[in-house]
Amino acid sequence: MTTTPCPVCDSSKTVEFLRRDSVPVHQNLLLATAEAARSLSSGQLAMTMCEQCSFVFNSEFDPSLLTYGTDYDNSQTFSPAFDNYVGELVDHLVNEQGVQQSSIVEVGCGKGDFLRRLVSVETLGNSGHGFDPAYVGPDVDLDGRLQFHRQFYDAECSRTPADVVIARHVIEHVAQPRELLSSIRAALNSNPDARVFLETPCVEWILRHRVAWDFFYEHCSLFTVESLSTAAEESGFDVKSVRHVFGGQYLWLEATPASPAQTHTSATSRTVPSNGAGLTDSHELLQLAHEYGITEAHRNAAWQSRIRENAQSSGLALWGAGAKGVTFANLVDPHRRLIDCLVDVNPNKQGQFLAGTGHPIVSPESLSQRNIRTVVVLNPNYCHEIRQQLAQANMPVTVVDLMNEGVKAA
Ligand SMILES: [Zn+2]
Repeated sequence: MTTTPCPVCDSSKTVEFLRRDSVPVHQNLLLATAEAARSLSSGQLAMTMCEQCSFVFNSEFDPSLLTYGTDYDNSQTFSPAFDNYVGELVDHLVNEQGVQQSSIVEVGCGKGDFLRRLVSVETLGNSGHGFDPAYVGPDVDLDGRLQFHRQFYDAECSRTPADVVIARHVIEHVAQPRELLSSIRAALNSNPDARVFLETPCVEWILRHRVAWDFFYEHCSLFTVESLSTAAEESGFDVKSVRHVFGGQYLWLEATPASPAQTHTSATSRTVPSNGAGLTDSHELLQLAHEYGITEAHRNAAWQSRIRENAQSSGLALWGAGAKGVTFANLVDPHRRLIDCLVDVNPNKQGQFLAGTGHPIVSPESLSQRNIRTVVVLNPNYCHEIRQQLAQANMPVTVVDLMNEGVKAA
């Protein structure tokens, strides 16, 4: 039992359910040598759930260990499935939510791809400001309609006026999510009709599917429908809806600034967001977290023997050198005895090395020369396109959907 209060609802009733010692602090940092990859700083994972609002946080998170500079690359748009998904989101914003003739601020815009898609079609009349210390590219683009700021979004940035604020996959990296949300709220003080869209992983999905590789250091704050709504409401927003997207893996929240009379509604009296995802009882979530924690070691050992079995007969690679791949490799093969390499379609990652373990990151084309016969995929959403890609290239490789078939076969 820990006494760290909940950063979302301030409740002192929080309970640690998962501990991992010495995990790599970064999952998406590009590392040029195996030595640099292995000597990356490590931190403690102490995942803790709030009994009141079911927010999940790393109570031993130390933000000073992290550097989100230009060597940080978490681009996923090299995957057709992900690209499709992003296209649907853009379509939802533009056509269903009417994000047109709008000043858009994107918090944590990465390399700016998403914002560019909302602004590049001139007839929509959108303009955009992107904030991200990891941004690489021109500061001003599209004849001045698009501007980038290489910095974290903080209270200072609130001076940039916005009709629409988007923050995708940002809030899970922030130890004090209400501070970030309050900065966004401050930017909208003079614009009661402004809209906010947030996207973040759903921790209930991670717990239900027992996805060990979705708990890692960069994600110090993980939300359920309840805790994401609570965080937004406590920060002065009126939550319109929270729904599951990307096959249930992410939460998508839509909100507007609350009028002063609406703010600080207590968790017990507040209304469940309309057309939102169903709320799960906090007791059930606690139970899920508890079961997850006590069974993780057993499950990791099962993954490991499954990987060992396959690696004995022929070369084995993991597909995807993102956070999931880094976390899984560190859990089951920290000394690089079983997994030959990681495959990534992002050319910036090829030739680099995996944080923590130092596994090489290679292109799909290199699989034949490395004599790889088994490719393990951690995110089921990408299995179809990977099988297709390997078949088209005439590569005799077996693709293992570890989340859906791993334990059964182990
Ligand atoms: Zn809480």
